[in-house]
Amino acid sequence: MDQIDCVVIGAGVVGLAVARALAARGREVIVLEAADAIGTSTSSRNSEVIHAGLYYPRGSLKATLCVRGREMLYEYCASHNVAHSRCGKLLVATAANQIPQLESILARGKENGVFDLTRISGAEALALEPALECVAAVYSPQTGIVDSHQLMLALQGDAERDGAVVALKSPVEAIDATANGFVVKVGGDAPTELRAACVINSAGLAANKLARRIRGLDPRHVPPLYLARGNYFSVSGRVPFSRLIYPMPNEAGLGVHLTLDLGGQARFGPDVEWIDSINYDVDPHRADAFYSQIRSYWPALPDDALLPAYAGIRPKLSGPGEPAADFLIQGAAAHGVRGLVNLFGIESPGLTASLAIAQRVCEMAGTA
Ligand SMILES: Cc1cc2nc3c(=O)[nH]c(=O)nc-3n(C[C@H](O)[C@H](O)[C@H](O)COP(=O)(O)OP(=O)(O)OC[C@H]3O[C@@H](n4cnc5c(N)ncnc54)[C@H](O)[C@@H]3O)c2cc1C
Repeated sequence: MDQIDCVVIGAGVVGLAVARALAARGREVIVLEAADAIGTSTSSRNSEVIHAGLYYPRGSLKATLCVRGREMLYEYCASHNVAHSRCGKLLVATAANQIPQLESILARGKENGVFDLTRISGAEALALEPALECVAAVYSPQTGIVDSHQLMLALQGDAERDGAVVALKSPVEAIDATANGFVVKVGGDAPTELRAACVINSAGLAANKLARRIRGLDPRHVPPLYLARGNYFSVSGRVPFSRLIYPMPNEAGLGVHLTLDLGGQARFGPDVEWIDSINYDVDPHRADAFYSQIRSYWPALPDDALLPAYAGIRPKLSGPGEPAADFLIQGAAAHGVRGLVNLFGIESPGLTASLAIAQRVCEMAGTA
């Protein structure tokens, strides 16, 4: 049976960032990915926004890893020629009764260390984005966008340069945690078993299910998973905005926002649709609710402009109506299995935070 130092399960943006960080610290790494390509799951089904770190409770992993990860990500993109833009964002209050929420997000952002946020009036917002309608806004100059696929290719390239191997079509089916490390059972076309000293479970939507298949891990350490699909609609033609526009967040998400890709093409989303199983189909009828939400800040959105685009699914650790849960990055101190790190609930801002998450995982895996 082959013996390897570290197995990383999942070649999404987080698994690849972890593999890169471990390999850069001299660890021997194999990434086992079930699909036939990297990044086909949540990492390619999101808004591609580099978040500043406004929304998350002070001291939470989401807040600290987003703020740290954002700066790491901008530096990484610049040094590795990954397409990105620090285009800025306006968080808008579209009615006077939303101003207290706007103020509290502004205060929270500052608590999280996002110091360059500016509170502006509706008129000032209109001067920046003439097609916008709002009564007040917060301008976030550090928010941006990134080409997530280019990012993942760069992470993979770095990891491979430092000796890591990315094995596609290699679904991990079960793991035995023994006194001498792990036995990782891989299915697919050529089933095999590997011995490993360290296992990083970065399987995204499948991380909870996979953790329950780790013999030797007490299943009480595995939290329940809730799936919240976020649907996106695109717009034919150009939109008259050059910054990202976000409404007030709701209990399960950041609200149907306008994000732009690096070609300037607009997409709106994601909404929140609680689902029971993984399915990425976008129901065209959901556009009806999008029109009213978008017109609250862009009244001139033309009729019939929205086209179903794509969906992503948030791996949530809190269900409908519950307060938003934090990321759960669980090492031996939490579950008692030496060498195992489970990553649960890596929803937004996981793309932004990916490099900082990887740093934290390295610390937990005994490689600072
Ligand atoms: C709608 C939506 C919008 C978002 N917008 C943003 C945003 O704008 N900015 C931001 O910062 N974050 C955003 N996020 C969050 C971000 O996309 C995720 O946090 C990030 O992509 C998670 O990456 P990951 O590597 O953990 O998971 P994934 O990308 O899901 O990767 C997990 C990988 O594991 C593989 N896998 C699963 N099971 C197995 C197995 N048994 N064996 C081997 N491989 C396996 C899968 O095939 C997959 O490739 C958004 C998320 C959603 C859903």
